[in-house]
Amino acid sequence: MSETNPNPADTTHFGYRDVPVAEKEKLVGKVFTSVASKYDLMNDAMSFGVHRLWKRWFAATSGVRAGDAVLDLAGGTGDIAALLLPMVGASGRVVLGDINAAMLREGRDRLLNEGRVRGLAYAQVNAQALPFPDASFDAVTIAFGLRNVTDKDAALREMQRVLRVGGRALILEFSAVRDPLLKKLYDFHSFQVLPRLGSLIAGDAESYQYLAESIRKHPDQATLKAMMETAGFARVDVRNLTGGIVAIHRGYKI
Ligand code: SAM
Repeated sequence: MSETNPNPADTTHFGYRDVPVAEKEKLVGKVFTSVASKYDLMNDAMSFGVHRLWKRWFAATSGVRAGDAVLDLAGGTGDIAALLLPMVGASGRVVLGDINAAMLREGRDRLLNEGRVRGLAYAQVNAQALPFPDASFDAVTIAFGLRNVTDKDAALREMQRVLRVGGRALILEFSAVRDPLLKKLYDFHSFQVLPRLGSLIAGDAESYQYLAESIRKHPDQATLKAMMETAGFARVDVRNLTGGIVAIHRGYKI
């Protein structure tokens, strides 16, 4: 089976485990339902707050402008939506879409508490089959989400479909670290520190073991770029942040 084009009758990976394709969505669902209430705290703890800088850079370089309609897929607790809302302004809109009700609830409560209501909508959606018409958005963002989607090719095709001509897809995701020293440190942090932090803070070591493993199974920079091109994106470019711990992929619909 192609790793990125699962057949429902076949198996795929859930972290380092092989599971039936039909099971993966449920297992990912359990992970995010389990960690939802501690998700934001864990992000700060495990990245020493650096995820905030990655996300700010992602939004700042997104090219999103006043008046744009943006879909933030796998938007979870709303970090990206919160950054994009002031950029689209009163004439634009942001749809925060996520498959998981618990994550969406956390996001909605947090954004409501921050008084961010105008121009924001929520949708419980699967990135693989979006319920939006063709050409409905100027930009589609997905941050730390694509890794969790079973059929990434289907999700990329859907992102392409719902974009208007001239619109762009922006993907922020963990990627491949090449520098051997950084890789050693990063592996230690991922496999020795993360599950312990997960156990201490979220009472769930397993979900953070999955996080570390899922990052290693995710397509690297060049593979994801090629997948975006196959899905129909043009002028695809890649920028590494923090030595490739994460990367931003950007592609246009022409
Ligand atoms: N974008 C947020 C951020 O950067 O903090 C949340 C990222 S969180 C690591 C991954 C999110 O992807 C979860 O909220 C999860 O529910 C969502 N997700 C997983 N599979 C999905 C799918 N097939 N369609 C839409 N969302 C999905």
